[in-house]
Amino acid sequence: MKSFVYQGTPSRVVFGTDTLAKLEEEIDLLGARRALILTTPEQQALGERVAHLLGARSAGAYPNAVMHVPLEVAQAAREEASRLGADCCVAIGGGSTIGLGKAIALDSGLPILAIPTTYAGSEMTPIWGLTENRLKKTGRDICVLPKTVIYDPRLTYSLPAEISACSGMNAMAHAVEALYAQDANPIVSLMAEESIRALAQSLPAIVVNPSDEKAREEAQYGAWLAGICLGSVGMAIHHKLCHTLGGTFNLPHAQAHAIVLPHAAHYNRVAAGEPLTRAAKALGGESAEDIGSLLFALNKRLGIPLALEAIGFPADGPAQAARIACASPYYNPRPFEQEPIETLLERARQGLLPA
Ligand code: NAD
Repeated sequence: MKSFVYQGTPSRVVFGTDTLAKLEEEIDLLGARRALILTTPEQQALGERVAHLLGARSAGAYPNAVMHVPLEVAQAAREEASRLGADCCVAIGGGSTIGLGKAIALDSGLPILAIPTTYAGSEMTPIWGLTENRLKKTGRDICVLPKTVIYDPRLTYSLPAEISACSGMNAMAHAVEALYAQDANPIVSLMAEESIRALAQSLPAIVVNPSDEKAREEAQYGAWLAGICLGSVGMAIHHKLCHTLGGTFNLPHAQAHAIVLPHAAHYNRVAAGEPLTRAAKALGGESAEDIGSLLFALNKRLGIPLALEAIGFPADGPAQAARIACASPYYNPRPFEQEPIETLLERARQGLLPA
């Protein structure tokens, strides 16, 4: 066996249907007394419900989280936390809300208790992001990793089927790339494989019935494992392309991930033959050669739009995005090559099968 380094993520996880009821107990365990509750404006009612549940333990609700954590929103939230004398943040929502909690923690060191309601996985990573003048800066700092995470699958029932599907494939992308990461290791690979299996099993059932209890539990379990993958090992070409599509072309995060994944995995099918065979098997297939078509078929079954063009990627986008990606590549098992990447993006733009 090759030697490797495994770094565990030091967070406490409380998992299961109706575990939101344990929130007060978990805040006590953190040694905190006054929680600032963060949500987006769309999830304000949920924030208020949580504030009510916490009673005197709630310092107040702050329902202003938005996508990509603009610096001015982060600063206003930091001021509110300090004005209210909060000693921890409860971030309840998707990656945008947890991102706001991280921006507060980065500045003040306040511990975060995260309650994820999508499958994006930010709660399991020490990665923060802040946007200033339309430029997103990201970094790693262990102080932004949530100390406690409550996964209550019941809170995901309200996530519409089509968003659940894309968000679940966003999680799947973390797991697929973890298998061929530069610093891949056997422990994280086990979690990646199990994550792919759990997501592939549960997402189709959620699309049929967004309140399917068993499927919601399994999807959130898969998303948790995928979040560990994202926080533990480096990501590769797929994430580089999606960061470019989000940053330069402003494409929606989860949808872009879902559409690009079959193409990016197909790009690596030879250079990462063994890891992608594991991924293919977890999807019910046979070999790395099938990985693109297996993921493409899953997207189709989930009713995800298959073409980047449908979410706003322009005709001259592939050449530009390929140039940007090749100018500052991430590690990838197959080197970044301008022309094949342009072809990959053009096929993704048109919604064609990876080839
Ligand atoms: P999001 O947090 O932006 O949520 C999208 C919308 O869905 C919001 O309006 C939200 O209120 C709503 N929503 C969330 N859960 C819901 C539910 N259960 N029911 C109904 N509505 C619900 O989306 P996201 O995909 O979770 O997060 C994307 C952001 O997270 C991006 O900015 C991305 O860069 C960031 N992210 C960061 C990391 C990291 O490690 N730092 C990891 C993954 C994603």
